[in-house]
Amino acid sequence: MSETNAFDNAIAQMENASGYCSSGDKKLIEILKYPQKIIEVSIPLRMDNGTIRVFAGFRVQHNNARGPYKGGVRFHPGVSLDEIKALSLWMSMKCAVVNIPFGGAKGGIIVDPKKLTHHELEHLTRGYVDKVFDFIGPMKDVPAPDVNTNAQTMAWIMDEYSLLSREHSPAVVTGKPVANEGSLGRDTATAMGGKHVLLEYLKAKGVNPKTMTVAVQGFGNAGYNIAKLLHDEGMSIVAIADSKGTVYNESGIDPMRALKYKEKHGSIKNLPDCVEIKSEEIFGLNCDVLIPAALENAIDHKIAKTVKAKIILELANGPITPEADLILREKNITVIPDILANSGGVTVSYFEWVQNLSRDYWTLETVENKLREVMVNAFTDIYNFANRKKATLRSAAFALAMNRIIEATKNRGILS
Ligand code: NAD
Repeated sequence: MSETNAFDNAIAQMENASGYCSSGDKKLIEILKYPQKIIEVSIPLRMDNGTIRVFAGFRVQHNNARGPYKGGVRFHPGVSLDEIKALSLWMSMKCAVVNIPFGGAKGGIIVDPKKLTHHELEHLTRGYVDKVFDFIGPMKDVPAPDVNTNAQTMAWIMDEYSLLSREHSPAVVTGKPVANEGSLGRDTATAMGGKHVLLEYLKAKGVNPKTMTVAVQGFGNAGYNIAKLLHDEGMSIVAIADSKGTVYNESGIDPMRALKYKEKHGSIKNLPDCVEIKSEEIFGLNCDVLIPAALENAIDHKIAKTVKAKIILELANGPITPEADLILREKNITVIPDILANSGGVTVSYFEWVQNLSRDYWTLETVENKLREVMVNAFTDIYNFANRKKATLRSAAFALAMNRIIEATKNRGILS
C-alpha cells in the first residue's frame, strides 16, 4: 500500500477508529468503505484558439444516509479517482461530526485552471454540470468550492443547472457570490471554524493564544483566512507558503500585507523582510502551531520526524498520512483532525442551503454566532470522547461520525 494513496489512508483512519464505535457492527462499518456511486465523465471543450480538448471529471457520492450528498468540486492537474473517493468519504464524516443533515460527496476535473482563460473555464464548468446534471440537485447532491474553484465557479454551476432544469435553483450549490444568494460569512467559514476549534483547544489546555507562533502551508481561501484570523487574535504568523514559495520571519508576517503582495506578484515568493526557505522546511520550524492548508499527504513519515510544533491544525483535507500520524502521536504532538478542523466550511454551506430553501437571509452576525455554536459543540463532543476513551482526536471524531451515520443507516433499514 502506498503511503500517499488518499483513499487507502481514509480507510485506514476509519479502521483505526472502528474499535471505539459503539455500534460494534463490523458489517455496517464495512459499507462505509465503499462509495455508493461513482460518476466518471469526459468533457469536450473548444479552446479559444479553436482546438478541441477533452477533460476527465468525477463526482463520487459516498453516503447519503443522513441527507443529500454534499461536497466540493476541485480543479487540479493532480486530481485522481482515488483522491476524490477519499475526499467524498471525509465529507460524510465531516457532516456527521458537525451534525448537519448532509451526506458526503466530492467532485473534480483533471485540469490546470491557471492554463485556461476565463471563458474556457466557464465553458468547462458548464460542460461538467451538463454531464452530472441527473445526479445533482438541492435534495440530491449539493456541490461547493474546493481547491481552485471559487464563488464565480459556483455561480456558473447554479446558472447552468437552473437553465437545464428550467427553474431558479440556488440551493443546488453553495459558496455562491452573495449577490447570487450566497451566504454572508461563507468565504471565511472554513478558517473561522478552524479558529474556533483551535481557541477551544488552547482554552482546555490553559494556554494563552497570544503566546502562540504559527506556520501556515497554503495561502488560498483556507490558508490566508486562518493566517489573518489568528493574527487578529494576537498570534504571530512566522511562516507562510504557497505552491511557488515559502517565507519565514521569526518576528511575524502580516497576512494582509502578504496577500496584497501575492495579488501583485502572483505568489508570496520573495515577500520583503522574509527569509526564503525550502517548501518542506516549513514543517520543521520552531513554532507552536503548524497549519497545513494546501493538499493531501503534505506530512508523510519522513516529514513527521522533523516536526517541532506541539499542535497541528489540519485545515487541508488529508494532509497527514497514517504513518506520519503514528510518529506524531509518539512525539506527543496533538493533531486536530481535518474532519473537525475544516468543517466550518460545510457548516456555513449548510446555512446557505437553508437560507436558499427558506428564502430568508441572515445577517453576518447570525451566521457567525451559529457557526461558533456548532464548532464549539463539535469540539466539546470530540474532546470529551477522546479523553474518556483515551483515543486521539482523529479516532474520536471518526468514531462519533461513524456512530451517527450507522444509526441513520440502521433506522432507514438499508441493511436489516
Ligand atoms: P485554494 O485553491 O484557495 O488554495 C490552495 C493554496 O495551496 C494555494 O495558495 C496554493 O498555492 C497552495 N499550495 C498548493 N500546493 C502547495 C504546496 N505543495 N506547497 C505549498 N502551498 C501549496 O484552496 P482552499 O480552498 O484554500 O483549499 C485548501 C485545502 O483546504 C484543501 O485541502 C481543501 O480541500 C481544504 N478545504 C477547503 C475548504 C474551503 O471552504 N475552501 C473547506 C474545507 C477544506
